[in-house]
Amino acid sequence: MVKRRITVLGATGSIGTSTLDLLDRAGGAEAFDVVALTGSRNIAGLASAAKRLRAEVAVTADPTRLADLQDALAGSGVSAAAGPQALLDAAAEPADWTMSAIVGSAGLAPTLRAAQRGGTLALANKESLVCGGQLLLDECARSGAVLLPADSEHSAIFQCLRGERSAEIERVIVTASGGPFRDFTLAQMQDVTPEQAIAHPNWDMGVGISIDSASMFNKALELIEAKYLFGLRSSQIEVLVHRQSIIHSMVGFTDGSIIAQMGPPDMRGAIGFALNYPDRPDLPVERVDFAALATLDFTAPDSERFPALRLAQQVLEMGGLAGTVLNAAKEAAMQGFLDRKIGFLTMADLVEGALNVLPCVGEPSDLTSVVELDAAARAYVRAQIC
Ligand code: NDP
Ligand code: MG
Repeated sequence: MVKRRITVLGATGSIGTSTLDLLDRAGGAEAFDVVALTGSRNIAGLASAAKRLRAEVAVTADPTRLADLQDALAGSGVSAAAGPQALLDAAAEPADWTMSAIVGSAGLAPTLRAAQRGGTLALANKESLVCGGQLLLDECARSGAVLLPADSEHSAIFQCLRGERSAEIERVIVTASGGPFRDFTLAQMQDVTPEQAIAHPNWDMGVGISIDSASMFNKALELIEAKYLFGLRSSQIEVLVHRQSIIHSMVGFTDGSIIAQMGPPDMRGAIGFALNYPDRPDLPVERVDFAALATLDFTAPDSERFPALRLAQQVLEMGGLAGTVLNAAKEAAMQGFLDRKIGFLTMADLVEGALNVLPCVGEPSDLTSVVELDAAARAYVRAQIC
């Protein structure tokens, strides 16, 4: 059997290591030809995975760490490379299946490059669609790349839509756990620390997405991601707080019927679906025990405590450039929160300010326009923080 050629962008992160776990369990280097694994600061993790999976090349995004990576890979037969261009070159190498799991808008350019060269693109890096929107879809259409969602909500929607007609979709209900502050009052949220924000009740994730979950900016990004992935109007997209994270999302149809996709809160479900599509081999995830759960709860989202949801609706109306501003401003504000320069609730105020101040109606024409607007939004937020 011909081995599939695999690339994992962001292989050292939470999604990346879950992806590698599934590759290892499916036979590792015996079952797949691993083309490229990429990381940034975690050189030991990157080198060890690249050796174990006998990757052709390991790339760190950080050029100052090239010598460390070369040392760690010495004598292994795995090539080492570093820096933004090496990342793009790795993404351009022919591969049948690519996991896009770099965190933040840094993932956009490599994801676009992978889309350009075709194959299956499993998308965890939601920022690629939030910032690149139509650009990414156009690249996939040009090359014939197949875009498969690896975000759990979007994988759920994709699974609910198999065999359905898009004209018969009435609404898409994106579920949200509500994060660690779902029961906090606005006054309590004022003083929360980064440590509290990172401690997610249901999911074990990277730092960025954990804080985004606490502020519900993660859900904001996901609503925008859903619009592009499934060609939805903003009026068709709803959020529902569901604290157990068992229903990953639902689709309502024109006949009033609703299909929900369920599973345990383990990202290997969504990643495994994208890795094995259209098959469903055994996955190492727990089975849902409904009797033990007893109830599934649902509550309406509160956009007063979580203004990110209101800002997402604004962005859905404004278009892809507003998505770039929302994401870049949010990333810069999050850094301010992590550095303890601003409070938790100030993050949304700064994003709203950036959306009001920067010209961002319509869709981006090219990557350069996204990069420039991203930089302007970050500069605006940093100026407000200092
Ligand atoms: P992590 O922070 O755990 O990992 C991020 C990865 O990106 C690491 O490999 C990291 O390298 C690398 N990286 C960091 N900065 C850069 C950069 N500037 N250039 C290139 N590579 C870089 O993130 P997650 O795995 O949690 O999330 C990855 C993406 O998947 C995000 O877009 C997130 O929203 C999305 N996602 C995550 C989910 C989750 O459960 N974690 C669920 C659904 C979506 P290193 O660690 O070596 O520094
Ligand atoms: Mg998600």
